[in-house]
Amino acid sequence: MLIIKYDFHSHTDYSDGVLTPTELVNRAAERQVKMLAISDHDSISGLYEAEQAIQTNQLELKLVNSIELSVKSDFGEVHIVGLNINPEEVTLVEAISRQQTLRWTRAKQIADKLESLNVTGVFEYLQSNCRQVVTRSHIARSLVELKHVKDMQQAFKKYLGKKGRVKVAAEWIEMSDAINLIHQAGGLAILAHPTRYPMSNRKLTYLIEEFKIAEGDAMEVSYPSLAPDKQAWLYQLLDKHQLLASAGSDFHYPDLKWSDLGHFKPVNPEVPHVLHHL
Ligand code: AMP
Ligand code: MN
Ligand code: MN
Ligand code: MN
Repeated sequence: MLIIKYDFHSHTDYSDGVLTPTELVNRAAERQVKMLAISDHDSISGLYEAEQAIQTNQLELKLVNSIELSVKSDFGEVHIVGLNINPEEVTLVEAISRQQTLRWTRAKQIADKLESLNVTGVFEYLQSNCRQVVTRSHIARSLVELKHVKDMQQAFKKYLGKKGRVKVAAEWIEMSDAINLIHQAGGLAILAHPTRYPMSNRKLTYLIEEFKIAEGDAMEVSYPSLAPDKQAWLYQLLDKHQLLASAGSDFHYPDLKWSDLGHFKPVNPEVPHVLHHL
């Protein structure tokens, strides 16, 4: 079976990517990617500019309108990619707007906590450096730029990660509600990068069950840094729950070669794939 080169998970500077939508689609085309999902965190705003750039530059690239929603599951916060959604679906647009407000509220709370630890200037930095959606990546970047830490990894380790000093929970949309919204907008609901959540394998198997019961459609089974033994295990779970396969680089930064656009192990062609359901 001929499988074209695709990438079903990527970010622009409307969330925590560093490239503009125009730069992103140009880069995808240069790398011979033929289908690209832009899946910004809680944002669809980059899709319009991306489509414009594809038309203007006459790129041989199909844009798949997508989003990555932060959601609340029984096992903690996880990410659901809504693939091939209608970005004009009103209920989805309203839910996204709510998520964006939650993000700014959380960012202010995090910045206030940092101030109380004498780590100053973060909120002002965010206000002048976020194009739209604010994420912990922006906060980590601000901590580096303001010289509070030496790099992003240290920012997560010391302050923003699971064991960091500044934890603020947000009331994200419920996973089952997010899946319903994605379906209402005509899209496929995909559990993103399952092995990247800070949870045990046991909890992850329960999470995948919860996702399936909530009528989730697919799961990512190939992405950068996924170890072969973990990938084999994900394929088993995919089969057990009769989910479709998806894959993507989760591209954010051009300087990370290992997570460049289209850069992930090809999915086993025997496995049912979202590509055939678009
Ligand atoms: P948020 O959705 O605001 O909680 O931010 C999560 C984003 O932060 C993820 O999508 C990643 O891009 C980034 N991120 C999370 N953990 C780390 C980490 N340990 N190092 C670098 N980036 C991270
Ligand atoms: Mn991100
Ligand atoms: Mn994610
Ligand atoms: Mn992502």
